[in-house]
Amino acid sequence: MSKFAEPMTRLIDELKKLPGVGNKSAQRLAFHILRSSEDDATLLANAVREVKSKLRLCSICNNITDVDPCVYCSNPTRNQQLICVVEEPTNISSIERTRDFNGVYHVLHGTLSPLHGVGPEHLRISNLIKRMENGRIEEVILATNPTVEGEATATYLSKLLKSEGVKVTRIATGVPVGSDIEYADEVTMQKAMEGRREL
Ligand SMILES: [Zn+2]
Repeated sequence: MSKFAEPMTRLIDELKKLPGVGNKSAQRLAFHILRSSEDDATLLANAVREVKSKLRLCSICNNITDVDPCVYCSNPTRNQQLICVVEEPTNISSIERTRDFNGVYHVLHGTLSPLHGVGPEHLRISNLIKRMENGRIEEVILATNPTVEGEATATYLSKLLKSEGVKVTRIATGVPVGSDIEYADEVTMQKAMEGRREL
């Protein structure tokens, strides 16, 4: 039998579904929410609801956005002919932190991983090819992570994109091998972008 009132048990059960939240943390969070003001609890509930109802993927680059096209794709001061391909939406902020990149992005939402059954059809590649066909793209920078999967994805994309006749470059491995660019400091990320080589 549960030692908490039913609404509390329900909140704890939902919080436990979050990554990295165990039973103890879920209880601590639930009691924190219970003790917080009515306003704070409503703000939290609304933020959770709106992240699902208002956010979607940019139809051009697959970034998570509340406006379509996203702030990068619709910005006339950014170079729309220079595309940086990343694995996840969170990778964009790593590159933005360098303040050096003025192009746009393309988010794959994953990497090729034959061992886990992830093939090209599971990644958001088709609208990248469409961008090649629609615009005069000067260069595509492959900024997937320097992991086995990230390298395999970069190799696959470079072949595919070169057949479209576009210049393809790969970020330098100033980013440590086996790591995630999300955790690269801005100097390392800047060097990785500067040292990119043509594939
Ligand atoms: Zn976009």
